[in-house]
Amino acid sequence: MKKENFSEWYTWAVDKANLSDKRYPIKGMNVWTTYGWKVMRLIDEHIRSEFDATEHGEVHFPLLIAENEFAKEAEHIKGFDEQVYWVTHAGDNLLDVKLLLRPTSETAIYPMFSLWIRSHADLPMKIYQIVNTFRYETKQTRSFIRVREIHFFEAHTCHAAFEDSERQIKEDLEIMERFAKKLCLPFLLCKRPEWDKFPGAFYTIGIDALMPTGKTLQLGSIHQYRDNFSKPYNIMYEDETGEHKYVHQTTFGMSERLLGAVIGIHGDDRGIILPPQIAPYQVVIVPILSKTVKEEILLEAESILNELLDANFRVHLDDRDIRPGSKYYDWESKGVPLRIEIGEQEMREGEITLSRRDTSEKKKVLKVDLIKEVADHLKKIEENLLKEAARKLEEGIINDLTGEKILRLGWCGKEDCAHEIENRTDKDILGPLAPKEDFKGKCVICGKETDIVVYAAKTY
Ligand code: ZN
Repeated sequence: MKKENFSEWYTWAVDKANLSDKRYPIKGMNVWTTYGWKVMRLIDEHIRSEFDATEHGEVHFPLLIAENEFAKEAEHIKGFDEQVYWVTHAGDNLLDVKLLLRPTSETAIYPMFSLWIRSHADLPMKIYQIVNTFRYETKQTRSFIRVREIHFFEAHTCHAAFEDSERQIKEDLEIMERFAKKLCLPFLLCKRPEWDKFPGAFYTIGIDALMPTGKTLQLGSIHQYRDNFSKPYNIMYEDETGEHKYVHQTTFGMSERLLGAVIGIHGDDRGIILPPQIAPYQVVIVPILSKTVKEEILLEAESILNELLDANFRVHLDDRDIRPGSKYYDWESKGVPLRIEIGEQEMREGEITLSRRDTSEKKKVLKVDLIKEVADHLKKIEENLLKEAARKLEEGIINDLTGEKILRLGWCGKEDCAHEIENRTDKDILGPLAPKEDFKGKCVICGKETDIVVYAAKTY
């Protein structure tokens, strides 16, 4: 079902797990349900811990931006113009200055940076926020992948010199490496071509994941702005010699697409599969009651619950009065990584049965080893999800001009040849890897010798 019709499967899987309700009467603005929001909050907590640990401070800026501030960076406004939601009235009265809902927050934050930054002692300045942004998408919307109200993470940094901002980008890449592991998501880092970089950026690195359709999904992006924004927004500092200089800036953005990738990449025909580090419940306990020893089994299940809670696992005891088979089905479609079954036979033998969501393997273990076995199993599930996804990404890249995969092709660096690749393959150029990989070959279009190899794919 996932293989035959991914798009239909995706909608079904999101619905079945009850992650979001897309019946809200405004298109592209989904309701986060309790379960979906729990998953997103866990993802956000991992983001927070990474950025807090690298000395970024969390902020929270207003949703509205004044038109005159938005208009300061010409390329930036051109890039977002078509997607902006405007606020023009207060009641019946026309506003003197039109306001817009942030499509991203450069133009909200940078006027404040110009007030906050005075001297070299204020640098580096590293902040982030997790907020909703708004973009009027014209393409078909899809939960977490293409929406008009976006759950968005954005980090903004200011540095004294270009080299300092380049070091920041290195740190961002290290953060992404660590963070994506927790979601078991492998990715490609591609330096976007000039004509596809973020509006206003000096360069852009796209973070691309491979979905089962062969299309890539951009999970986020890292931008080097150099002083492209600090000039129009007048963000300056006084250096040690008293000279006034513009700061160099970077940004790092990610969105709820992370969840879209988790769903699409790990899920199977029974529904979503959540990596243990972002699962609201890592373990669900299902007691298999028999009439004769019902009470004892329930007591045993509760003791397992308490033991796991004490060891800081996220765990749930499903004691609803329905058949175990229905419970299995529910929790499988919610992607809970590990299930514990405890019935009469297990009770007698001092055992429990562990059932993995990812491989469906079942194993009986001694109850005295509960904590160790659960920890081991969750670790193995995490490793397996990442390994499988990495294998699919590797197999999803071919050195050829045809195929429903990511294409890896020699490219001379000329824009004409890149567009010719796009025309012939009906795919978009993602760019060469960042950092650059070693290559010796010929441009697939003009045949010129080159050391650049470029990736192209259909994209979401
Ligand atoms: Zn060429």
